Amino acid sequence: MSIVHHFPGGIHPHEGKGGKAVTAGLPVVAAPQPSRVIIPLQQHIGAPCKALVNKGDVVKVGQMIGEPVGGLSAAVHASVSGVVVDCQPAMTANGTQVMSVIIDNDFKDEWVELKPVANPESLSMQQLSDLARQMGVVGLGGATFPTAVKLNVPEGKSVDTLLLNGAECEPYLSADHRLMLEHAEQIVSGARLIQKALGIQNVVIGIEDNKMDAVAVMKKACEGKDGFRVEALRTMYPQGGEKQLVYALTGRTVRMGGLPLDLGVIVCNVGTCYALHRAAYEGRPLIDRIVTVGGTVNKPANYLVRVGTPVEWLIDTSDGLEEATRMMIYGGPMMGMALSREDIPVTKGCSGILAMDQVSSLVDESACIRCGRCIEACPMNLVPASIDKFVRKDMFDEAEKLNALNCMECGSCAWACPAKRNLTQSCRVAKRIINQRRREAAAKKGDK
Ligand code: SF4
Ligand code: SF4
Repeated sequence: MSIVHHFPGGIHPHEGKGGKAVTAGLPVVAAPQPSRVIIPLQQHIGAPCKALVNKGDVVKVGQMIGEPVGGLSAAVHASVSGVVVDCQPAMTANGTQVMSVIIDNDFKDEWVELKPVANPESLSMQQLSDLARQMGVVGLGGATFPTAVKLNVPEGKSVDTLLLNGAECEPYLSADHRLMLEHAEQIVSGARLIQKALGIQNVVIGIEDNKMDAVAVMKKACEGKDGFRVEALRTMYPQGGEKQLVYALTGRTVRMGGLPLDLGVIVCNVGTCYALHRAAYEGRPLIDRIVTVGGTVNKPANYLVRVGTPVEWLIDTSDGLEEATRMMIYGGPMMGMALSREDIPVTKGCSGILAMDQVSSLVDESACIRCGRCIEACPMNLVPASIDKFVRKDMFDEAEKLNALNCMECGSCAWACPAKRNLTQSCRVAKRIINQRRREAAAKKGDK
């Protein structure tokens, strides 16, 4: 019997998945390839890759152009065939310059020879982890944590449950929804690879109950698969947060600073499982992903996009922006990043490009009225109003005592606040300063 738990807090923002912005009802279409791609050599949490190509090199689709370096890394591959015109720092969505390989597309779409794994379901944990690293598989829910590391369970730890994240709780986005509708079998196949390699008993797929068609197709795909089950979760943001999902589907609480692995759980996005399936059964590296282009664009859609495609190209593909557009977001409206320019590339962690007719940051804050709504909304049981107060007074020790480091930057508090206070931003500042102080303290200790 299944039991689904309800995590504390949470909000229910306008879903934006209906009306003109609807994209969930339309099949995914392959976006036309751009004439030039900009492929950052760091599209994951961890160390940047080492460039394997130079200016003037001719490359094929799927060719490794960035070699993973260090333990926390994942390879990067060419997403089009053509000529490398440069290897230089390029602006990315978070405002940082990242060394990137720029390729002029020859539109021949010539691929390297793909080498599928002979017997994927017999892969050991180490072999599956190595495959994920070489094929550039990272967490596609947005976290971009290298999948190879997640699959390499350290000695002394054991895993009894694999959770597949199909919640897609961010408003407007429907990339995972379409993926589940169109590739349910392959997602389940990718999950089976993990199940077999790690000897996991339970595989639970969590999907918000505003996607019951996806629940149905995923249930069908799981039929006859030992240990697999699908659970419909209440539609409540941030249901897809890792800790929230673990609690909802297992009733286990990840402690502050801890990982799901501490509780015998691994969480993978459905897109990640799909990428793993393709890596093993097709020998295909991660060179594209589904991206929702929505909001106030003239033709919202879910596109299969080659990594490195500039945002402006996708906007043009969607027939441009409506006049009412006032800002662009890379990702979802709750946790995504405001874009100041459109020449930045789509990377592996990009689930959506949204055009919005409101600019939330321009709304003036007013004084806190001590209503407590931010506390009710916080899924991490924090007191955002107090953290905000301390941050504004540079009282970071006090903010630390209030567990500011546990903030997942979900934005629920700011969304719920009637005074429109910039609570999430305050938490971000608190985390940055507290971490910086900790690093400095550790360095001082090391000096002695
Ligand atoms: S942004 Fe941080 S403080 Fe605000 S609701 Fe989310 S977890 Fe809580
Ligand atoms: S929701 Fe806003 S106004 Fe209400 S207590 Fe929190 S910070 Fe203050």
